[in-house]
Amino acid sequence: MSSNKIKVLLIEDEPQIRRFLKIGLIHSGYAIEEAESGGEGIRLTRAIRPDLILLDLGLPDIDGQQVIQTLRAEKIYTPIMVLSVRNEPAEIIRALDNGADNYLVKPFIMEELQAHLRSLQRRAVQALHGEGEILEVQDLRIDLARHEVTLKGKVVDLSPKEFKILHELACHANRVLTHRHLLLKVWGPAQADEHQYLRVYMGQLRKKLMVNGKEPTYLRTLQGVGYIFDTSD
Ligand code: CA
Repeated sequence: MSSNKIKVLLIEDEPQIRRFLKIGLIHSGYAIEEAESGGEGIRLTRAIRPDLILLDLGLPDIDGQQVIQTLRAEKIYTPIMVLSVRNEPAEIIRALDNGADNYLVKPFIMEELQAHLRSLQRRAVQALHGEGEILEVQDLRIDLARHEVTLKGKVVDLSPKEFKILHELACHANRVLTHRHLLLKVWGPAQADEHQYLRVYMGQLRKKLMVNGKEPTYLRTLQGVGYIFDTSD
C-alpha cells in the first residue's frame, strides 16, 4: 500500500474510458480505485474516502448528478470533477450547484485533465492553510484580511462590489463559480438572476486589473455558466 499517493476514485461505466484514464493517472503518480456504477461509486466513497472523485454522469444505475447530491447530503466534501459528454450550460450549472468542483466536457486530452487535477490539489492545500490571508497570481496580490488589492505593487481602487466578486472568486480559486452563486453572494437573493449586473462588473474589474493594456488571463469566463479564478499559469 502506497499511502502517500493521492487516491482517485473513478466512477465511469465505459471500460475503455476507465482504461484510458487509469493509464494516464497511474503514470502521473495517482492511486486509482474504480467503480462501474453510481451506486458502487457511492459505496466506495464511503468506504475508502478518496482524495478526489472523477465522475461520469451517464451511468447505468443512477445519474451522476444524483451521485453528487447523495455524497454532499452525507456531508462528504471530497472534490468531485465531472467528466461528461453533456455540454449544455444548464447541465454544467446543475452539477456545480449540486456541489461538483469542476466540469470537463468529453472528449478531452489527458494533459487537460492533469492540469485540472493539479489545480484541485492546490486548492486543497490553500484550504488547509486557512484559505491564505494573501493570494498572489501573476502581478496581482489580494490581501484578504485588509481588503486590499495591489497590481505590480500599486493599490487598485476597487468598489466594494468589485472587491467582493474578486474575493469570492479568489477564495474558490480554480473552481467554477456560477453566475447565480456570485450574484447571491455579492448582491443577495433579490438579484440572483440579474446576470447583466455581473457582466458589467466583471468588465470593470478586468479593466482595472489590466497590465500593459492586457486583460488578466486568470479571470476566465465559462460561456453561459460562470467564472473561474484560474491560478494554473
Ligand atoms: Ca457513461
